[in-house]
Amino acid sequence: MVQGRSNRKKKHSGRTVLGIFLVLAMGTAVLKVVHSPFFEDMTDKLLVSWNSLKGVVFGQTAETDWQLLLVNRWNPIPDGFDVKLVTLSGGHQVDERIYPDLQKMFDDARAEGILPMIYSSYRTTQKQQQLMEDEINKYRQEGYSSREAKKIAETWVARPGTSEHQIGLALDITSADKEKQKPAVVWEWLHKNSYRYGFILRYPEDKTDITGISSEPWHFRYVGEKAAAELYQRDICLEEYLDR
Ligand SMILES: [Zn+2]
Repeated sequence: MVQGRSNRKKKHSGRTVLGIFLVLAMGTAVLKVVHSPFFEDMTDKLLVSWNSLKGVVFGQTAETDWQLLLVNRWNPIPDGFDVKLVTLSGGHQVDERIYPDLQKMFDDARAEGILPMIYSSYRTTQKQQQLMEDEINKYRQEGYSSREAKKIAETWVARPGTSEHQIGLALDITSADKEKQKPAVVWEWLHKNSYRYGFILRYPEDKTDITGISSEPWHFRYVGEKAAAELYQRDICLEEYLDR
């Protein structure tokens, strides 16, 4: 009996060593693949798909609130979405809940010699549709086929139903006086300071794979002060933030 048990033990430890070796070898191989650019790109895409699936299965509002509503090409505006708008002095409209922070941001910017001006804010679905058609026509006139023109246009203009401008939380901002101050000066100030007021640069140059939108230094989105500070400090975009 005793002898038998000891034999079993030997066999067992032999298999354990082999097992550990195999796990290590496989781990090394997996690490190599995981760190290849192709795999990283695929992982990003899978993550985004998973996010939208989560949104469909669990409902986006379960773990977020109105400030963090994710709207992109994979996450259309939810059915029955409604927003209370406030009209600003220039005729632009935004969700009334972001107005106090927006006003404060503009007041503080002006106090520092910055000249911000909103040139696009809340849009209706019809307006978004029109923008998309105009953009597609622009590329068609440049000689692209309908299919190509649509593809390029969609990297610049969100499809109707998938634009943040339709939820009243996004603003396109430029310089109020381009002779005196270049838009880039305004964007630079906003990029560095907007998080203090709950806004973020929504489409950074290095996040286009994740946001699905080309770099847009003029587009700012309200997410609330807490999220904005974290997004800014961690240098992540909204998709990455919501993937916690
Ligand atoms: Zn915009």
